[in-house]
Amino acid sequence: GEGLPRPAETRVIVVANQKGGVGKTTTTVNLAASLALHGCRVLVVDLDPQGNASTALGVDHHAEVPSIYEVLVEGKPLADVVQPVVEVEGLFCVPATIDLAGAEIELVSLVARESRLQRAIEAYEQPLDYVLIDCPPSLGLLTVNALVAGREVLIPIQCEYYALEGLGQLLRNVELVRAHLNPQLHVSTILLTMYDARTRLAAQVAEEVRSHFSKEVLRTAIPRSVRISEAPSYGQTVLTYDPGSSGALSYLEAARELGLRSVPEAETGAADRQDY
Ligand code: ADP
Ligand code: MG
Repeated sequence: GEGLPRPAETRVIVVANQKGGVGKTTTTVNLAASLALHGCRVLVVDLDPQGNASTALGVDHHAEVPSIYEVLVEGKPLADVVQPVVEVEGLFCVPATIDLAGAEIELVSLVARESRLQRAIEAYEQPLDYVLIDCPPSLGLLTVNALVAGREVLIPIQCEYYALEGLGQLLRNVELVRAHLNPQLHVSTILLTMYDARTRLAAQVAEEVRSHFSKEVLRTAIPRSVRISEAPSYGQTVLTYDPGSSGALSYLEAARELGLRSVPEAETGAADRQDY
């Protein structure tokens, strides 16, 4: 791939939306692979007990594998659980195992329960250009850990009827974390996913999202594509599964836009607009 400028500091990006099935995991792994193909060093943190990002990256995550659970609950260093993604140079993954399902409860009684991921990432010494965190479909302590660890939030929005429902809740949570725990946090990026150019509805949803979040929405929308949905069952991203497909090209282009954007300041972020 073409080179992208490397960011001056590691950009930690939280991929969040408390709705399930909107394309968080798909976006995390495919953007991460795209950024790596553009020449960057990228770490994916799988923060969903389902472990879908680990599966999609072909990374071992059966119950005995050291994972993000040990990092969050036992304080194990991130370096001890990071695995390389064999298919893509410069791409790494911290897997999630089923243990993580219990972490939401176990974290409650631990000290610094909201900032354990942030501390682990800060202590990680390998150079990284990007960290992408794949969140579970909830706004519990795991997602809060992600929001404390990151500076940017990327929200994937599925171009369908209920697309904007629940967005206000997410934006308010981002605002709460910004106010109390992480002053630099802001919604930097919105990505339209599963865009079906043949339907009027998709176009209408896209237009509505763009009118409310003109600065944050990437120009590139990710099309609905069978190749994108097939890739995880081969333990691959669409970038290696079918590099010439429209899905692969659109993620490469979205990654390019993301990489070329300067990091905006927190003050005027989308979190200030709570009309949903
Ligand atoms: P989430 O992580 O938000 O729950 P996923 O990324 O797992 O969402 O996506 C939900 C489902 O939609 C998955 O089966 C995935 O393969 C499929 N999917 C995601 N993006 C696309 C796309 N652009 N085209 C076709 N299918 C997609
Ligand atoms: Mg997911």
